[in-house]
Amino acid sequence: TALEKRGNSTTMSTPQLILKQRAELLAVLCGGGSAEPLDCVLDLLLAWEVLVWEDYLSIQVAEKALNYKVRQLLDVVYDKGEDACSCLLAAMNQVLPEEQKAGLCFGEECAVVGKNRPDTATLTLLADRPVLVRKLRDNIDGALNVLLTTDCFTIKDCDVVQLPVYTPSQQTTRPNPEDKENHPSANCMLYQKKLRSSVAAQSHTLSTYGGTGHFSLDDIYTDGLLEVMDGSGETTTLGLEDVVGPVGTLNDDADTFLVSGEAGSGKSTLLQRLHLLWAREALLTNIFLLFPFSCRKLNAEHRELSLKELLFLHCCWPDRGQDEVFQFILDHPNLVLFTFDGLDEFKQGFTDEERHCCPTKQVPIPVLLFNLLQGTLMKGVMKVVTSRPQAVGPSLKRYLRKEVLLKGFSPGGIDCFVKKHHSDPAMARRVIESLQANSVLLSLCHIPVFCWIVTKCHQELLGSQDGIPQTITDVYLLVLQHFFQRKSYQPQGVLGKAWLEEHLDTVLKLGQLALESLEASCYVFSGYELQRIGLTEQDVSMGFLIYCNDLSVTDCKRYEFLHITLQCFFAAFYLVLNRNSDRSAIYRLFQPKNKQLSGLSQRCLGHCIDSSVEGVKSHVTETPNLQITAQFVSGLLSQRHHNLLQECCPTAVRERKAKQVVKSLSKGMQRHFKSIPRPVEGEKKSMHAMPSFVWLIKCIYEMQDSSIAQDTMAKLDVEHLKLTYCNIGPVECTALAYVLKYLRNPVGLQLDNNSVGDVGVEQLLPCLHICHSLYLRNNNISDEGIRKLLEKGMKCERFQKIALFNNNLTDACTQHFAWLLKSKQNFLSLRLGNNNITSQGAEQLAEGLSSNQSLQFLGLWGNKIGDRGAEALADALRNSTTLIWLSLVDNGVGSAGASALAKLISQSKTLEELWLNKNCISREGVECLIEALKMNSSVKEVWLRGNNLSPEEEEELSKQESRLTF
Ligand code: ADP
Repeated sequence: TALEKRGNSTTMSTPQLILKQRAELLAVLCGGGSAEPLDCVLDLLLAWEVLVWEDYLSIQVAEKALNYKVRQLLDVVYDKGEDACSCLLAAMNQVLPEEQKAGLCFGEECAVVGKNRPDTATLTLLADRPVLVRKLRDNIDGALNVLLTTDCFTIKDCDVVQLPVYTPSQQTTRPNPEDKENHPSANCMLYQKKLRSSVAAQSHTLSTYGGTGHFSLDDIYTDGLLEVMDGSGETTTLGLEDVVGPVGTLNDDADTFLVSGEAGSGKSTLLQRLHLLWAREALLTNIFLLFPFSCRKLNAEHRELSLKELLFLHCCWPDRGQDEVFQFILDHPNLVLFTFDGLDEFKQGFTDEERHCCPTKQVPIPVLLFNLLQGTLMKGVMKVVTSRPQAVGPSLKRYLRKEVLLKGFSPGGIDCFVKKHHSDPAMARRVIESLQANSVLLSLCHIPVFCWIVTKCHQELLGSQDGIPQTITDVYLLVLQHFFQRKSYQPQGVLGKAWLEEHLDTVLKLGQLALESLEASCYVFSGYELQRIGLTEQDVSMGFLIYCNDLSVTDCKRYEFLHITLQCFFAAFYLVLNRNSDRSAIYRLFQPKNKQLSGLSQRCLGHCIDSSVEGVKSHVTETPNLQITAQFVSGLLSQRHHNLLQECCPTAVRERKAKQVVKSLSKGMQRHFKSIPRPVEGEKKSMHAMPSFVWLIKCIYEMQDSSIAQDTMAKLDVEHLKLTYCNIGPVECTALAYVLKYLRNPVGLQLDNNSVGDVGVEQLLPCLHICHSLYLRNNNISDEGIRKLLEKGMKCERFQKIALFNNNLTDACTQHFAWLLKSKQNFLSLRLGNNNITSQGAEQLAEGLSSNQSLQFLGLWGNKIGDRGAEALADALRNSTTLIWLSLVDNGVGSAGASALAKLISQSKTLEELWLNKNCISREGVECLIEALKMNSSVKEVWLRGNNLSPEEEEELSKQESRLTF
């Protein structure tokens, strides 16, 4: 590079300067979240030929966060050596404002020497880039016009150029008069008032309580469990107010917040709560205008609309100053929030292929929606989107600021919900007691929509002769009975045995509507569609269909099912009971995508299995719904409901369909088993479950036929079953245990990073005897869950290892572990890291350890056992002839603890690794350890990083004993 150096030279080379100041350089280039400084630096480096175009592209990766790009820049330049580094520092020196340069060292001053003018236009564009950017910035429209009229650019090229992904400083160059900034006009205020009141009216009641009129959202809303995962996989629990807060942000450049959760986990309700609180000025108070949208309703909009029309037609019409209000919205993206409920129900899968950024141009709804989500249109407006996780593919993920997981109710939440639902405390108590007496039912209640049904149908539940519901099919049969009962003229509680037969006509018609519309991703129906199927007013009055609650301006009434799961239930009924359906309908429901035939229903039904494997774009929406439908089909065809269906469906037909289900499930499972790779030599044969594995297991569970479970599992031969990050909650645990208990050979069951909880742990007990290891890291488990687990575990001969890192354990669980250790002399590994165990807990554990002669691994990283705890453990372990590995990292252990551990070292013949990082051990403690190590030959490593020692002491001590690592 043509560089000429001037001034005094400093001692450090420029690459060194860049390395040393990396954190600071990163901070100034990312500070404020604006990409502007980075862009300007890049312009200069391109102009100076420090970077070639390929370098530039490797830095400016569209979907990457700003800090990634800056790091990439620093790496690329560093690799290029001294001259390039000098130029980078010079460019930063030129670009950054004075106040940001304080404290930074830019090395020797350098200047670019004038080069020969480039001889091609392309090179000129590069050489003059910084100047061109400055000059063209405010005249971009004029430039584009010229390019258009001279045919150099197409309209599409112009669109790409005009994407308003403006950095904040660019935004200031747009017309945005300061005086408007914080003073909305009277018309805007008026509009806000109107919007608030219509949002409040729309969100005041829950649709599932619509007909009863008893409850407002305030009366019944119960907080769900919200979690967010950071880049490293750590989860944090959130409150409603944090949904759009900073915690868990993954991509600073994006403005879309995703709330994901399974059907019925409460996503729509959460959004509704957010709307209501905004309308009352109780939350999101910095948001001036909130526009709520429902994706299922947007499906019905076939016109092309501009952004302006979308907002005003679908949400709220400004009575005065339309243009002024819209201009305010355009000028103040940071004061506006859009919500989109149920992206998974939007007919078209997300793509970012078509760019659109003009707020007044009419385009099809998908184009509008997707460009809003990407931030191509209305950059800076916050968007909150809800969806089931399956519908969120990688192309959407890169536009997400963060993803919040909604995991349904906690056990406390269930109690709270039941109490809110039943104003009579005695009744609430009875319902809660009946739930606690039946853990399967309790586990179902973690999903709010099931909790709603169970609570609503308490009468049928408490007085049921058919036993307590075990499956979701049972629960939905309850709700069916409940609704028919409500409308029947018979006295309460008496619904004739043949109730289904009596209402068969209604069920079939609703079933047809449900199935046909699921296949077409349609969730909202016009009166005409109802008529076509023959649904009468009386059918509608049963309550399964409700009027759409809608802010938009339409003349005709529209209907939807009370909940999507109910639509799936009716669809399943139709598949089971419809005598005219073709013979392969059931097979197709369970079939993988590539084996489908043509035709409407085939097209959709076939997506049931593992569409996630391939890039299915537009029909991902049906997959989860058809999976739920398949689950209900399995349940309805179960032998248990034989009596119910007897009069409605000839036995031979029912049996044929049931056989088809069993065959499909068995085939589906085999496909999974075949995918298990051969074990690497020396490693266990392991299966990492694919997404549909848990679904197949749930279908088998719905059938409630142990021989099916047994037959399926007989073919599975693995030593390790990995189901991490699979959304496994209590309901899934019930199904898993039901099936896995039939495994022939013992397995390690790895369920890390799910939401098993205490109730889920209880559900797993039936398969504990087949587990040699249980991994439950990060699963919201508390002492009570452990009590139940170990009570059973003590009796399971094969159960030898448990990992419980990052749960909610306290000293109250350690006595149970002590008992386990005392009574099970083949237990090998106990890992309790990142819980809340103190010295007391350690003392309890020690009691168990002193009479155990089998434990090899003990991990307590990240607890608070202190010196006292360490002393107790060391004492107890002195006689151990099995312990190989001990971790007391980050436990507040000082020299007293270390000297107790030294005694353990001096006696142990088996211990190989001792982990003591991040404690407060000083020289004195380490010297004890060194003394002890002199007498020990088994120990290979003692880790002591991050203790109370100076670097000099560390150096000196490690010379004395090479097995110490500082
Ligand atoms: P999703 O949108 O995830 O499918 P919904 O929000 O529609 O789930 O919830 C289904 C039903 O469950 C609601 O109609 C309501 O009866 C009940 N429900 C869900 N979340 C809550 C909550 N936080 N408080 C009270 N009830 C809830």
